[in-house]
Amino acid sequence: MITTNIDLAKQVLINNGIIAIPTETVYGLAGNTFSEIAVNKIFALKKRPHYNPLIVHIKSAAWLNELACDIPDAAMLLANRFWPGPLTLLLNKKPNIPDLVTAGKPTVAVRVPNHSLTLILLEQLDFPLSAPSANPFGSISPTSAAHVYNYFKDNLEVILDGGECNNGVESTIIGFENNQPIVYRLGAISLEDIEALIGKVNFHTKNDINPAAPGMLSRHYSPNTTTYLTDDLVEMITLHPNKKIGLLLFKELVVNNSVLQQEILSKNGDLSEAARNLYAALHRLDKLNLDIIIAERLPDNGLGKTINDRLKRAVEK
Ligand code: AMP
Ligand code: MG
Repeated sequence: MITTNIDLAKQVLINNGIIAIPTETVYGLAGNTFSEIAVNKIFALKKRPHYNPLIVHIKSAAWLNELACDIPDAAMLLANRFWPGPLTLLLNKKPNIPDLVTAGKPTVAVRVPNHSLTLILLEQLDFPLSAPSANPFGSISPTSAAHVYNYFKDNLEVILDGGECNNGVESTIIGFENNQPIVYRLGAISLEDIEALIGKVNFHTKNDINPAAPGMLSRHYSPNTTTYLTDDLVEMITLHPNKKIGLLLFKELVVNNSVLQQEILSKNGDLSEAARNLYAALHRLDKLNLDIIIAERLPDNGLGKTINDRLKRAVEK
């Protein structure tokens, strides 16, 4: 049920149930971090492989000490600057966090989400909420309560409706090796903003067999419709004669008769607006029974890098 009833949400969570919560990134599928029953329900409903750890959502940085230890100075700098907000920190975990949540890893992923409804809910709970995105594993992330309902229908007693997600792409994930910050996943905070605060950060090297972060899997965030990513729209359209084509474009429409539907991410060429619109546009195109979706590569800076990262994974077979 789609609702704004926080009391109901709280009741379900206290009884080891799971609900959908709004955040500024995407909607999450949330349960009590300390309840293995609840966390198991999240994995089952999402059909998420157990090697994929979950992000723990806390109400404020003050909770960090209950969940993590050996917190690097750079992590505190990042937390103080970007929380509440779309930045996830990977920190050495305390033993009280179930292995199920961290997929047996020695680190826990933590963040304070920047959404008023979810912060009010967290205030009223005496446990944090583990929450991956509220979509079946590998599919397009949900940025509205309706997206979540379309995926899970009445299998979720509570879908807390907080409107459309403001940032619209997942959090940036930063971990540490020998106290050096490492990017595990590009996200809603640009690398430029992170580096302006803590200096140069390196990328975690990709490993699909035992991915450190599932957002790093080659195929993820994927529509059902075959999708291509290109720098040359006209060439890509020409390569697909007699096909029902949908376009996912940065800022300008394309004049071409063989195109059935076009989605513009930001008329003004604003990368934050483009990120906010990305998944909703993909959901709409995916519903049209097109033969193919052709996505235009965005400028490779700021949030353009994050959007390109998601599109690259969306096109993988
Ligand atoms: P989702 O919310 O579905 O995007 O999933 C949460 C993301 O956080 C996934 O990409 C997880 O792998 C990542 N994550 C959570 N905990 C850890 C961890 N201990 N190490 C690496 N990545 C993590
Ligand atoms: Mg996800």
